[in-house]
Amino acid sequence: MEIVTPEKSVVSEDAQIVMAPGSLGEFGVLVGHTPFLTTLKLGAVRYTDADGKERSIFVSGGFAEALPDKVTILAESAERRRDIDLERAKAALERAQKRLDDQKKEEIDFTRARAALERAMHRMRVGETR
Ligand code: ATP
Repeated sequence: MEIVTPEKSVVSEDAQIVMAPGSLGEFGVLVGHTPFLTTLKLGAVRYTDADGKERSIFVSGGFAEALPDKVTILAESAERRRDIDLERAKAALERAQKRLDDQKKEEIDFTRARAALERAMHRMRVGETR
């Protein structure tokens, strides 16, 4: 499996099974899967690595391509659990919540604040899982 952002390759390793948050629902890919292409919601990509360990990666939405022997995920941002800065996510969550709670709501870009809130929530969810 490969998870790639515009900045770097975040994951490039063998996986036994890959679970990803497709726009139409969570899906799982095993070797030999029929090829398909889908958009992703933001959330967690989970996979079992070659040693049988479960791994969880935050992805901010994007695209996934499944081929019989490979899954490629392209995301605007993606982080391994150990690379998630929980304090930063918490600060982003509080900032977004404050914006959404603000009195002068007409000055707020709701879509943007809501998206920032969701990124922070999902980062915390992935980052806090041990
Ligand atoms: P912030 O407001 O804290 O910048 P954001 O949701 O706006 O959060 P993004 O635009 O999604 O941030 O990401 C910008 C870059 O920062 C990406 O490279 C992403 O991987 C990284 N990043 C963002 N938040 C975190 C975090 N909590 N821990 C680790 N890396 C992060």
